[in-house]
Amino acid sequence: MRNTERFMRFVLAVLLTAVWTFPYLAVAEEVPSRSKTSAPAPAARITLHRSSCPCGRCCVAETSNFRVQWCTSEENLRDLTDTCERMAAASKSTWLGEAQTRPWTPQCEIVVHREVNDYVAYLGPGSEQTSGCATIRLDQGRVVIRRIDLRADALDWKSESLPHELMHVVLADRFTTRRIPPWADEGIAMLSESPEKRGRRLTELRRVAGNGMTYAVRDLMRVQSSPEPALRNAFYGQSVALTSLLLEWGTRTQLLAFVEASLDQGPDAALSAVYGNRVVSELDQQLGQSIWTDRFVHLVTQSGTRTTFRSQAAAATK
Ligand SMILES: [Zn+2]
Repeated sequence: MRNTERFMRFVLAVLLTAVWTFPYLAVAEEVPSRSKTSAPAPAARITLHRSSCPCGRCCVAETSNFRVQWCTSEENLRDLTDTCERMAAASKSTWLGEAQTRPWTPQCEIVVHREVNDYVAYLGPGSEQTSGCATIRLDQGRVVIRRIDLRADALDWKSESLPHELMHVVLADRFTTRRIPPWADEGIAMLSESPEKRGRRLTELRRVAGNGMTYAVRDLMRVQSSPEPALRNAFYGQSVALTSLLLEWGTRTQLLAFVEASLDQGPDAALSAVYGNRVVSELDQQLGQSIWTDRFVHLVTQSGTRTTFRSQAAAATK
């Protein structure tokens, strides 16, 4: 039901507005991340406005790239907005290069819902199984809507869902005329999650692989909408595994070039053009066998491009 509704929402958006809208959902996890590092980037200039929130006290924070709504203290709001700016700058720099660091127009709207009912009221039934959702709309070669909805009652919304969803928004800058294939979009977004979470995804992948419930690489690359529940763990596990494997074969620039080329030429010609004498059967073989090895666990959990930041509020109390 959830997949059907989400797919119908997508189809309706295309039919009614003649532009594309993609929801990218992050499954709720009840395990908080432990990894935190600080970053040298300067603090963003943050402006606070009065919010329309019924509480009558909270604010909306704006920076050059973000407009953040969260019914919380001013300190928390500033802290989250600063974190978003730093994460976006790091992800843009890491994946798109320095040339892509110009501010987003329109800004990325971030809405932190206090609890699941508010979240589901906006995103619709079925979304309660998730803790974050990015909505991106493309029109005539540019991104015209950037939005991330998050659930404050999910323990990992800030440590896992926020960086994951933000990565979808960053990648949209590179794929403005055609949707980035879901395997690559999710695979790269998962690299911004914690190594612990990616390790759990690999554990789930091994479990379903033991039952033969996995994709052939060609089929994985053809997936266009959210997979049915029975294939969900295979899709996410294989997507992050495939992305990690390609990052072992080459650079991030090559990975994005391969994804782009595969849209035009298909995976065989794209592999040959970007990675030399590589063929799809090699990917199938390595994903099918290597996922059981310790080396592959290390590859998937350590190939991330995660950038996390120490909360200013937490740092101040240390
Ligand atoms: Zn995602």
